[in-house]
Amino acid sequence: MKSQAHAFKPRAAAALHDPQLQQAMAKAKGGFVDKRRLAVEALPEFEALRSAAREIKEHTLAHLDYYLEQFEERVHAAGGHVHWARTPEEARDAVVRVCRDAGARRVTKGKSMVAEEVDLNDALESAGLDVMETDLGEYIIQLAEEPPSHIIAPAVHMTRPQITDLFHEHHGKYGLTERVTEIPAIVNEARQVLREAFLSADVGITGANFLVAETGSSVIVTNEGNGDLTNTLPRVHVVTASIEKIVPTLEDVTTILRVLARSATGQEMSSYTTFSTGPRRDQDLDGPEQFHVVLLDNGRSQMLGNEFHEMLRCIRCGACLNHCPVYGAIGGHAYGWVYPGPMGSVLTPLMIGLEEAGHLPNACTLNGRCQEVCPMSIPLPRMLRDLRMREFEQGLTPPRARWALAAWAYLAKRPRLYQSLSALGMRVLALMGRPRGALRRLPLAGGWTAVRDMPAPQGETFQRAWRRRAGRR
Ligand code: SF4
Repeated sequence: MKSQAHAFKPRAAAALHDPQLQQAMAKAKGGFVDKRRLAVEALPEFEALRSAAREIKEHTLAHLDYYLEQFEERVHAAGGHVHWARTPEEARDAVVRVCRDAGARRVTKGKSMVAEEVDLNDALESAGLDVMETDLGEYIIQLAEEPPSHIIAPAVHMTRPQITDLFHEHHGKYGLTERVTEIPAIVNEARQVLREAFLSADVGITGANFLVAETGSSVIVTNEGNGDLTNTLPRVHVVTASIEKIVPTLEDVTTILRVLARSATGQEMSSYTTFSTGPRRDQDLDGPEQFHVVLLDNGRSQMLGNEFHEMLRCIRCGACLNHCPVYGAIGGHAYGWVYPGPMGSVLTPLMIGLEEAGHLPNACTLNGRCQEVCPMSIPLPRMLRDLRMREFEQGLTPPRARWALAAWAYLAKRPRLYQSLSALGMRVLALMGRPRGALRRLPLAGGWTAVRDMPAPQGETFQRAWRRRAGRR
């Protein structure tokens, strides 16, 4: 996906003024948050599971080379193939090659963020393949020619009337001319279209929630069953996954699954959890003739051991997005690349560069909710601060912000001067705010007061109040 991360500010402003987006986001927001809270409250051992899941991931990352090689060996033993891809280009080439070798014409796809990351659909279509997304949300945005706006709910930014219009526009060629408006009818219509695609596909491409080193299996969780049809019906099954999806054992998968579903959708378990190990064996009733895994690095091995190492624990549950006030206000498209919200604000600059995505780590209030709800306890706020620091050190911070920070640093090292100037500043602002007790425009911060008044300071400065209280005690 071509990045638009540099245009975060205008895109965010446009999102705030998009009534349909605001309506869709308002509807989605509460649902995810409440369901997660109830699911976590209902499981007393949630915190213990969270720690165990975190330990499993840390152990795996510390021995990633070992488990990746074990995974490859077990995939081969089961009759499958592993393709290593350092870059998105290598991943795209590997998948296109497998499709060409299989003489494929039609490809069905389950949800895969790695496929989005490497822009797989474009590559497949350029190679002359007919590509059909089968996850309902992904199918909707494929029709709308839009990227996903959420990592587990790709079409969360769309309202039901928008989807009705989209289906009406595109489904006439299947003989479905009735305008469907109710959710069951919308789902049923999608099912009719997708069923035909499942039965005629030559290659099925899925992502992976986990790759199991001890068995060479890929694991996907879905609520629609589309993943099962994508990986069992076509002749060839291709898994696109990134290297940090490895876990050592099946037992480890079950531990992490218990925190994943609760954190993502508030379910105890997703409706379908599917394990795929190699191609069909003689005694199997169904399954593909070929099983391929494309393993993508794309900068992840550079993160091992550095200050962003913990980001590799991410299991893409989406909880940090659902609890982020910034994401909740602007949705996912404003972020301009594949991964939105707090996890995206860390991952995107690391993958496509701070020069392109420098706005993202700054679009955060550092309220810390993302870390609180993250089932892997990833210190997202600390990483966002570290990225801001990198940005400053690389000279990418805008000059005005650099001067402001330099002035603040100068004053912070001189407490007396700092206190006198803040007392003076307070008095000036209090005078400026008369008689309303609020300022319509704040000097040097016009953006803040463009949409709200700033209450004029009252009373004494914080330092004075603190000294007075301490003296009284
Ligand atoms: S950072 Fe944490 S909360 Fe966000 S998607 Fe990853 S695992 Fe989930």
